[in-house]
Amino acid sequence: MPSPSPSWLPDSLGLVPHPSARAKCVARTQFNPGSRILSTPAYAAILLDTEKGRRCDSCFRLTSDEVSLKRCSGCGSYWYCDTKCQSIHWKAHHKRICKIYNSFLLSLEYQALPMHQKLDAILLSHALATLSLLPSPYIFQEDVSSVLLMSLLPYSDESIHLPPICPITPPPPDELVRKLYSRFGNNNFAIHSHLTTIAHGIFPQASRLFNHSCTPNSAAKYIFLPNKSIRMDVIALRDINQGEEICLTYLDPALLETREQLLEISHGFKCQCTSSLFLRRIGRLPILPSTASEISHISEGLRRFVGVESLLSHLPVKQIETIPPSLYCVLRESYMTGLSEIFSQGSHQGQYDIAIDSGMTLLSLYILVYPVNYPQIGMHLLEMAKTVWNAVITSTDHSIERPLKQRAWSFLMLAEQIMTVFGPEGDDGGPLQEIAILRELLDSDLI
Ligand SMILES: [Zn+2]
Ligand SMILES: [Zn+2]
Ligand SMILES: [Zn+2]
Repeated sequence: MPSPSPSWLPDSLGLVPHPSARAKCVARTQFNPGSRILSTPAYAAILLDTEKGRRCDSCFRLTSDEVSLKRCSGCGSYWYCDTKCQSIHWKAHHKRICKIYNSFLLSLEYQALPMHQKLDAILLSHALATLSLLPSPYIFQEDVSSVLLMSLLPYSDESIHLPPICPITPPPPDELVRKLYSRFGNNNFAIHSHLTTIAHGIFPQASRLFNHSCTPNSAAKYIFLPNKSIRMDVIALRDINQGEEICLTYLDPALLETREQLLEISHGFKCQCTSSLFLRRIGRLPILPSTASEISHISEGLRRFVGVESLLSHLPVKQIETIPPSLYCVLRESYMTGLSEIFSQGSHQGQYDIAIDSGMTLLSLYILVYPVNYPQIGMHLLEMAKTVWNAVITSTDHSIERPLKQRAWSFLMLAEQIMTVFGPEGDDGGPLQEIAILRELLDSDLI
């Protein structure tokens, strides 16, 4: 008889054995593109240093002109929308570290840490403060999310070098600190708003459920609501059939040359997805040609192979494994970086021909390396639509106005399709609102 599902597992998901990972999460129902697979709270989450004082430390919402953040009078280091957000944060963990927090931040051992370890040290302190507030401090066996967190696979062993932690009363048992910290790093998520990272967090349920794929069928997004703690929503990017494994990506799939090593270092496994197997088979990628005309020849070849044209009614689908050997050099990370630079420079400096040309090549590359409906493709299509729109409003040649507007429209409609699947994320506004505004401008002009 199959063992009963654990209580924390939604009915729509199942955990089944996996040949190399601990288990795999499968759909027990059909998920359509854009449907929510899971909504799960953060166990602990902290803002990046650059976001401190701009956002509420509890709900992570960006401050607006009407709302100025209130500072914690105890430590002066945390900011809140209002007393409700402060009270949520206070009860969750802050009351255990408020008094001691500033002297901890000023301590030599904390100051000596590199930035990412500083984040880890604070995140770890938050999680330990949460554990200290359980009915019996640090006895977590009755608390489902703590049990889930501790049940994650450790990456590092006992000899791990612990970062300093904010002193908490009662002090956590050393063994528990080690156990917790050994589950860090490989299990932390970058929390984003409009796809820009603003914080780090631990989401034990998501870590426990989803294996990695470089071509995932789902994506994580973050929900910030007033007076609520942060949540992660996992969204289906395409149709997911019953029985199919649901995966997230643990890193940017576009890191074609480094992702294998990164996954091995931070997660301790070799990815077996078709894209990774293909890249492993090619081995070292050929170098890019050195002259501008050769590069432009390669770029043309890439656009032709992927099948992007000036007016698109739908995006072509191309698997990276089908790319011809003559184009292998475009898989070098420096090619994508170079294209992105040319595109954004061209857009900002008003060199629209250059921007649109490199933007089309970049779109071809994104289609090749990212899965269907991946939000980065939608964001790029929106940038393309904005660039073409800027070309319209700055052009003095009226004969090209209409074809340009049609082009902007075709990019915009594709951007809308993809960003609607992903849905709104993080702060108010964002890409979907930008799409609506540009749509209105173009709509009235095209009709
Ligand atoms: Zn707030
Ligand atoms: Zn405080
Ligand atoms: Zn892979």
